[in-house]
Amino acid sequence: MSIQSNLNNIKASLPEHVTLVAVSKTKPVSDLMQAYEAGQRIFGENKIQEMTEKWEQMPKDIQWHMIGHVQSNKVKFMAPYVTLIHGVDSLKLLQEINKQALKNNRIIDCLLQIYIAEEESKFGLDENELNELLTSPEFKELKNIRILGLMGMATFTEDQNQIKKEFTQLKSIFDSIKELKTENCSMNTISMGMSGDYQLAIECGSTMVRIGSSIFGGR
Ligand SMILES: *Cc1c(COP(=O)(O)O)cnc(C)c1O
Repeated sequence: MSIQSNLNNIKASLPEHVTLVAVSKTKPVSDLMQAYEAGQRIFGENKIQEMTEKWEQMPKDIQWHMIGHVQSNKVKFMAPYVTLIHGVDSLKLLQEINKQALKNNRIIDCLLQIYIAEEESKFGLDENELNELLTSPEFKELKNIRILGLMGMATFTEDQNQIKKEFTQLKSIFDSIKELKTENCSMNTISMGMSGDYQLAIECGSTMVRIGSSIFGGR
């Protein structure tokens, strides 16, 4: 199957309220351009240098999403152009994003990553840390970021019940804070679901899916 037909099949299967992030990490620009020519405008990358190289080479109407873990000292490289940072998991990182956004005279949209998996290796805040962050005075001062919602990754397992439990947990955390509206916070996005589990994620309330291998092939 071609990238174009993979993309068209997936897009046809997504409800209208679900946004598709085409995860293009490790793939060459020529593959991304096939997706671009098929109409895709949102791409997800997990390494800052690779994302920046692709941003430099590709059409400027593409929205670049950083989906990987972000180190504070790398924020400055994406601050000029990134559309959405999915993996924000600390106030300190948010403060750095705010600082770099201010330098670039813009507001950078972010998602807060929530830890839902039963795997030590995954990043994210738990529910208490999330509430602490959102209600802290330091957070209120950040005028150059905007929190649009939450992101999570389920455990890497075949157990559909386990995955469903974790997605449902993320949705219920989202529901508990979604009414929170401040100048820098407007909760409307739940980024959950990848190639192997996006249908289940949508059933559980996902509004943004991050799909790589089902579009571009294995890595
Ligand atoms: C790689 C990656 C994806 C996409 O994974 P696929 O299984 O290829 O669809 C989604 N989210 C994150 C955070 C990733 O790193």
